[in-house]
Amino acid sequence: MEAAYEPFRICRTGNRYWSQTVSETVNKQIRLASRPTGWVTADNFSATEEPVRKPGAGEVLVRNIFMSVDPYMRGRMNDVRSYIPPFQVGEVLQAGVVGKVVESRFDGLKEGDLVTGMLGWENYSVSDGRLLRQIPSSSVPLSYHLGILGMPGMTAYVGLMKIAEAKKGDNVFVTAASGAVGSVVGQLAKIHGCRVAGSAGSDEKVALLMDQFGYDAAFNYKTRKSLPESVQTACPKGVDVLFENVGGEIFEAVLWNMRDYGRIALCGMITDYNIEDPQPGPRGMMLMIGRRLTMRGFIVTDHPKWCDEYVRKAIGWLKEGKLNYRESIAEGIENAPQAFIDLLKGRNVGKQIVQLSDVD
Ligand code: NDP
Repeated sequence: MEAAYEPFRICRTGNRYWSQTVSETVNKQIRLASRPTGWVTADNFSATEEPVRKPGAGEVLVRNIFMSVDPYMRGRMNDVRSYIPPFQVGEVLQAGVVGKVVESRFDGLKEGDLVTGMLGWENYSVSDGRLLRQIPSSSVPLSYHLGILGMPGMTAYVGLMKIAEAKKGDNVFVTAASGAVGSVVGQLAKIHGCRVAGSAGSDEKVALLMDQFGYDAAFNYKTRKSLPESVQTACPKGVDVLFENVGGEIFEAVLWNMRDYGRIALCGMITDYNIEDPQPGPRGMMLMIGRRLTMRGFIVTDHPKWCDEYVRKAIGWLKEGKLNYRESIAEGIENAPQAFIDLLKGRNVGKQIVQLSDVD
C-alpha cells in the first residue's frame, strides 16, 4: 500500500538539517490566563503546547512567520463591549499574522502560498481559507505586511487623509509620533506638502523623527516642563491637524494650540488603556467651540476601500524611497507577551513584531 503523503518542513539545529512532519510538530501557543487590572503582566498569559491540527474541508494550515502586537489588544483583554469582541480567558490570543500555507483544503490557496490574516499567538494556525488574504510575491520584506503595508500604515492614511482631510500647507501634529502609526503619519504629511511636528517618549525616538521620518520639529514629552509651550515652539503657527494617538496631557496641550477650523483625527488613547480609574478630560473643550474645531474618531477596518487605495500608493512610495520604516523584532512565540508589555511601556521603536519561524 502506498504511504499517505504527510506535509513536512526542513528544520535546522546549528549546522544540522532534519525533516519533521507537521503531525509530529508541537504547536506552542499563548493564551489569556487572566484579565489584567491596570498594567498587563506576564501572569496574564499562559504558554501551552498541543499537536498541530489537520485542516478540515475549506480550511488551511498556516506556519506563522511574523506576528503583530498592537495597543488595541489591551482593550480586548477587558470584558467590555467594543467594536471588536473581547479575548476569552483560557483561549489562544489573536493577532495579525503573516505565514506560509503548509496544507490547504481550500480551493483558493495552495501549499507554499504566503498569506496574512487574523490568526493565533501560536506557531501554526488552522483558518477558514476565506479569512486569509494571499500576499503577492514582491521584493518588500514579508513583515512589512503587518506594519507599513498593514493595519498601522492604513490607519495613518485613513486618519490623516480621509478623517482629518489634511491638505498642502497644513500644520500637522502627531502624538506617539515614532510608533508604527505615527511614523507613517509624519511621512504621509510630508509627501502631501504639510509641515509636521510630533512628540515621542525618548531622545532616541525624537532623533529618529528628525533624521529618518522627515519631521520638521519634535520633542520628548517626558522631559519637558510645559507641554503647551513645547507644542507652541514646535508649531509656531499653531496646529491645523492633530493626529491623536495618546490622549491625556499631551492631547490637552495640543488642543490649546489648535488653529481656527482645525481638525482632530482621534485614532487612539493609549494613556487610558492601562488605567484602572480614567481621569475626566481633557480640559479646554470650550476651545472646540470658539475655534470651530472638528474632532472625529475612526476605526480603520471600517474603511476597506481607502485601505486598498493606501496599499497601492504605499508600494509606489516605498519603491521611490519616499517612505522610511523601522521595526523592533522579538524572537519566538514565548517572547510575545513581553514584546506586548514592552509596547505598552513605550519600549518599542517603530512597529513591534514577533518572529515565529524562518521566512523560507
Ligand atoms: P506604537 O507603535 O505607537 O506603540 C505605542 C506607543 O505609544 C509607545 O511606543 C509609546 O511611545 C506610546 N505610549 C505607550 N504608552 C503610553 C502612555 N501611557 N502614554 C503616552 N504614550 C504612550 O503603537 P501603534 O502605532 O500601533 O498605535 C498608536 C495608536 O493608534 C494607539 O493608540 C492605537 O490604539 C491606535 N490605533 C488605532 C487604530 C484605529 O483604527 N483607530 C488602528 C491602529 C492603532 P512613546 O515612547 O513615544 O510614548
